[in-house]
Amino acid sequence: MHPLSNYNIVICRYSEVALKGKNRWRFEKCIIDRLNLLLNMLPEMTVGKIRGRIIIHKQDFSTFSEKECKTVKNALNYVFGIDSFSFCIRTDTDMEAIKAAVYNCFNIKVLSTVDEIKNRLPTFRIRVKRNNKNFSYSTRETEIILGELVSSFSKDLRVDLSDKADFSLFCEVYKNFTLIYSEKYMAQGGLPSGSNQPVLSLLSGGFDSPVASYSMMRRGVFVDFLTFHSYPFTPMETVEKIKRLTAVLNKFQGNRKLFVCNFLETQKTICEKIFENFRTIHYRRIMFRLAEKIAALNGNKALVTGESVGQVASQTIANLSNIDSAIEILVLRPLISEDKIKIMNTAKKIDTFDISKVQTPDSCTVFSPSNPSTNAPKNMILAGDRKMDIKSLIDTAYSNTTVIDVNTNEEIPAADYFQSV
Ligand code: ATP
Ligand code: MG
Repeated sequence: MHPLSNYNIVICRYSEVALKGKNRWRFEKCIIDRLNLLLNMLPEMTVGKIRGRIIIHKQDFSTFSEKECKTVKNALNYVFGIDSFSFCIRTDTDMEAIKAAVYNCFNIKVLSTVDEIKNRLPTFRIRVKRNNKNFSYSTRETEIILGELVSSFSKDLRVDLSDKADFSLFCEVYKNFTLIYSEKYMAQGGLPSGSNQPVLSLLSGGFDSPVASYSMMRRGVFVDFLTFHSYPFTPMETVEKIKRLTAVLNKFQGNRKLFVCNFLETQKTICEKIFENFRTIHYRRIMFRLAEKIAALNGNKALVTGESVGQVASQTIANLSNIDSAIEILVLRPLISEDKIKIMNTAKKIDTFDISKVQTPDSCTVFSPSNPSTNAPKNMILAGDRKMDIKSLIDTAYSNTTVIDVNTNEEIPAADYFQSV
């Protein structure tokens, strides 16, 4: 972004939201609400809508300061539903005004592009879109006039109409105003936050479940979190890591809740009753049952996990099915067919990688066997269930669950929280 460019408006484009037909306004409203929230520290900024785009500008269309540009650009990295955005100059639909804006705002930028290119001649292109057919210049004429103006900035410039040009100038002519810009930034894409029902994500400290949570957020779903630990068999650092992951993920959606269950007491009871090779599956069946209970109380319509076929023993098709049969609620597994490398790349992109890579013991591995069953027969699992008092296991797990606001670090028992809401 060039600091001297006098930007006074940002246009945000979306593609999938544009396909929404009669419901489109609802999706647009979610984007506008989200942007208003993220930009509330810039009270002069307004968020509006023109012709299938979201716009951000000051009420009087005055120029953004460099700090305002940075704040807006950063905010747009955390908004779903927007595919790309551009910082623009908004000027009058008048050829002299357009030429003056191009000269004043892009001359220096073109010259610095020319300076950067060594050993070949720098190239440029002009792209004009004319939405106002009454404008006295045709698209072609406008392109020629602006092309001559830009070439006058440096004698070295050559035309390259492809998107490989070193400098691109876009000019969109509307009836009452014209927008001029030179760069398009890619945004998150997906669907706006809050445009679908909320879910509860089973969040562990690994690479997968944070990425799975992000994948669901990207589809317009608010995500609350539930994690299990086995303190003091797992260190408190395991929970601290989950809090950090939650805070990073919440940047994409606002302050959602983190439920934390100390699973140790429940695990010990399972251990006493269950043959060791099947323990992990039983742990997970009870974990999912507690998750189902919390989801019902918290208004979450599905669970999310970071499971991916074949990654570990509990993630064989047979065992995923053994886990699912414990509950009725829908379980979403957005990474089910994803490769680890791709998951880790996404983790880098969303800033969870560096937190996840610090190894901490997971509660699933406490008292677990060295060779867990990868194909446990369902009848054996059901027989295991009959040896236990499932309801009391869930009650114990629930009574050992707290809810944390990761912004304030305030922590209260889940039972008190649900009584108060
Ligand atoms: P991850 O990288 O997400 O930790 P993983 O490859 O380690 O996953 P598992 O340990 O089998 O695989 O866990 C599979 C999924 O079960 C996780 O992605 C997560 O959704 C859930 N899960 C596992 N352990 C926990 C935990 N301690 N608390 C909450 N959810 C968990
Ligand atoms: Mg794990």
